[in-house]
Amino acid sequence: MIKEHFTGTQIAYYIVCKRKLWLFSHQICFEKYSDYVELGKLINQESFKKETYREVELGNVKIDFIKTKDGVIVHEIKKSRKLEPAHIWQVKYYIFKLRELGVNCSSGVIHYPKLFKKIQVDFTSEDEEIIKNFRQEINEILSAPMPPVINKPYCKKCSYYEFCYS
Ligand code: SF4
Repeated sequence: MIKEHFTGTQIAYYIVCKRKLWLFSHQICFEKYSDYVELGKLINQESFKKETYREVELGNVKIDFIKTKDGVIVHEIKKSRKLEPAHIWQVKYYIFKLRELGVNCSSGVIHYPKLFKKIQVDFTSEDEEIIKNFRQEINEILSAPMPPVINKPYCKKCSYYEFCYS
């Protein structure tokens, strides 16, 4: 049976590294031991504390915060722009999930508080088809053996680095 309910983290990992997606989805996790991940969590907790709708849960998806004005706008907080394509697709996935529920939502904002930057994310009708394809491909990846390492510069900051390269 095809699984359809993935987390935002799984979508981001699908973009960043199929092996990371596979490991994380099979509950092989070292994230709690990663200083880099801890720093991200701290930035997340300390930013936008006054927002009314923080940590909005939609099933197994958790959105950093939303604003409501002429529909819902998704807001996500990140520490660095290095993996920006993954951040963009994570936000698009949240928008997709909201739209599946019938919520009027077609845009989001990614905040990089440490860089004093933010970027706008707009959801298009093509994105809907792309995300449906992502879900199909994620199902295929998770039912196959563990993918190989990818040898990217950002591997060194990944919580699976020791596992992958030692
Ligand atoms: S260390 Fe590199 S290959 Fe291994 S899971 Fe992380 S990103 Fe993927």
